[in-house]
Order: sequence, then structure tokens, then C-alpha cells
Amino acid sequence: MTDVELVGNALCLDFANTVNARPVARRDWLASPAEVVTWARAVGHPVDDDPSLRFTLPVARDLRETVFRVFQPLAHGDAPSPDDLELIHTVHAEGIAQARFVEDGATFRLSWAEPESLRVLLWEVATSAAGLLTRGPLHRLGDCPSCHWLFLDTSKNGRRRWCSMITCGSRDKSRRYYAAHGDRAETE
Ligand SMILES: [Zn+2]
Repeated sequence: MTDVELVGNALCLDFANTVNARPVARRDWLASPAEVVTWARAVGHPVDDDPSLRFTLPVARDLRETVFRVFQPLAHGDAPSPDDLELIHTVHAEGIAQARFVEDGATFRLSWAEPESLRVLLWEVATSAAGLLTRGPLHRLGDCPSCHWLFLDTSKNGRRRWCSMITCGSRDKSRRYYAAHGDRAETE
């Protein structure tokens, strides 16, 4: 099993990146209860593997695709569809309705009963998406041209292009190298 890679710099974007590549994925962290438990632990929102998990997984995968369809166009300066925005809003509103404020150091945070249910993780994802939509910085959104992972570019110069230089960045470099030198096509 490969390790969870977190490159999004926002929970909602890492959630969109739970498939390893688009449009064809070889890895899906939302495919089974065991995988989602591993992924959730890695992002610091542990979920219990209780019987309800199996039923919530399809909802989770739907939300993931919605989050992707909202932020991918935004990464290119295009508008997402109103229907997809509405879906994010619906999940966010549902979460807010169930949440309460609890003190967290100098500020407060949202907290839910049964914090270790997958449903709560989805509400956290929707809250993260709502925060990104309302506060940005949307001009710092990136869409890796190789695997279509989404990320917030937090680099100083704002010129990050790849999800990660070690995977997609270097793969592209060698591909361009062979294209430019007419040597041979890179085989994977
Ligand atoms: Zn990539």
C-alpha cells in the first residue's frame, strides 16, 4: 500500500486528490472502509470503521467529484456550475446546522457529536471548501497538468505547476527531454 500523499494545502483539495490520477485512477482512498480509515488518519480527522461507513462511502465519492468539478475550473479562471456550488452549499449547511462552537486555544472551532464518523469528515471537507470559496486565495489554485491533482500554491513566487516535483514534475521533464532529443518515448 502506498502512503497517503498530501499536497493540496487545503483539506477539500486533498480530499479531491484521493484518486491518484484523472481521468483514470489506479488508486482510490475512498474505495473501501479500510482505505478511508487510513486516509482520514493521515489528514488528522480519524474515522471509526463502524457499519455506517460502508453506506457513507458512495456519498463521500460523490462529494469528492463535486469538489473536483468546482475547483478544477477555478484553477483555470473558469466558473464552476451553479449546481455543483449548490451541492457544496447543501453539505456545508447540513454540517453547520449540526455543529457547535468549542473553545480551541485563543479562538473557537466547529465541533460535532460523533466526531469520528465519516459524515463529520464530509462536513469538514465542505467547510474547507466553503472557506476556500469565500476567502480564497482562488488565484493560487493549481491543477497538475499530468495527474490533475488540485493544490493551493503557497510558494513565494506563485509559480508552482505540478502536484509534486518528484512525481509529475520529473516525469514531465524526462518526457520533454526525450521529445526534444528525439531519443525514444518514455515508457511507463
Ligand atoms: Zn501531478
